[in-house]
Amino acid sequence: MVGGRITRLSVHDVRFPTSFEGHGSDAMHTDPDYSAAYVIIETDAKDGLKGYGITFTLGKGTEVVVCAIHALSHHVLNKNLGEIVRNFRGFYRQLTSDGQLRWIGPEKGVVHLATAAILNALWDLWAKQEGKPLWKLLVDMDPKQLLSCIDFRYITDALTEEEAYEILQKGSIGKKEREKQMLEHGYPAYTTSCAWLGYSDQQLKQLCSEALKEGWTRFKVKVGADLEDDIRRCRIIRDMIGPEKTLMVDANQRWDVPEAVEWMLKLAEFKPLWIEEPTSPDDILGHATISKALAPLGIGVATGEQCHNRVIFKQLLQAGALQFLQIDSCRLGSVNENLSVLLMAKKFQIPVCPHAGGVGLCELVQHLIIFDYISISGSLENRMCEYVDHLHEHFKYPVVIKKASYMPPKDAGYSTEMKEESVKEHQFPEGKIWQKLMAAQKN
Ligand SMILES: [Mg+2]
Repeated sequence: MVGGRITRLSVHDVRFPTSFEGHGSDAMHTDPDYSAAYVIIETDAKDGLKGYGITFTLGKGTEVVVCAIHALSHHVLNKNLGEIVRNFRGFYRQLTSDGQLRWIGPEKGVVHLATAAILNALWDLWAKQEGKPLWKLLVDMDPKQLLSCIDFRYITDALTEEEAYEILQKGSIGKKEREKQMLEHGYPAYTTSCAWLGYSDQQLKQLCSEALKEGWTRFKVKVGADLEDDIRRCRIIRDMIGPEKTLMVDANQRWDVPEAVEWMLKLAEFKPLWIEEPTSPDDILGHATISKALAPLGIGVATGEQCHNRVIFKQLLQAGALQFLQIDSCRLGSVNENLSVLLMAKKFQIPVCPHAGGVGLCELVQHLIIFDYISISGSLENRMCEYVDHLHEHFKYPVVIKKASYMPPKDAGYSTEMKEESVKEHQFPEGKIWQKLMAAQKN
């Protein structure tokens, strides 16, 4: 039985100094320190289980997200977990509609990242109390109960609850077989680990040849800072992987709309499947213009990792502005809001290829995409989940990749729990790692 009064919510500012080696560097984020605001929720239930939730950040500013989590915490404290999940739509709306805090959102920016961290912790705890990995909790849930977790406000012009119900009903056909298939073969992944913008050509070649040996068939390259560099780097990687394997490029919002089209015309010879985040994540019509211009070249537009909420996703879908939809487990309002986006993507027949990497994003989003395949999309065509090979060792239940696929997690929960010693060492600024770095900088 799911329950327990929530007695404590604590937050940690956890940062990893990834910028020192150029990991994660792209055209806009040249020195990211992969970080997280890390929430721990405790209850008075006898099982002693805790819920762990993260939202991903790039270092500075994590303290602002931590503040926002504290500001929202009164909505959670002293509530009963059972009552929350039995009326999850109502609770989601309460959290995102706080009469004063919604002014600094609503449902976007810092306050929404904070919402994601809290809700991720609640989902982790719910799945743990049910003794299931999160993907399985979702797969086994009755469609009506699943829909009762979603706030349909602002999206009923694109997807009604009745349509969503129909999608889930249809999705139940063949579910058992798809679950078996996932457990045997996993969900296909692609790698972004070879070609961060801050890596040298030598590093790129070495990482690419290692990835090929490990069986990777889909690769993403960061572009957008310098055209000549991009041409050279894309040529290196295309030559190494050959014409059959899949290449994607990612500009991380670097360009204006006409610039994006012109730049991509120059990279078209390398046959990328998609250009990711060509321009501002808020520019729905700009994405539509780019999509239209690149369609004859067979290049799609992918976006979503910095998409604020379900409303923006709705408009991107309505405007034909993206051909690959990239959900993020820590930017939207957790599982609740991601469920609505997965269902909209199904209605608009756009493949979902989640954003992952950072710290913990792979651990979390694998649950959502495995559920999507089993219960909603039922297809692997043009679908794959991002994978980045960093920082998994800090998690208690790290991802398992076999033959370039995510193997479904077996442990109960949302795979969000970090190792205690990792949290302690990387806590900012008092953790050992940061004390050492700061001392070195002084000298
Ligand atoms: Mg990206």
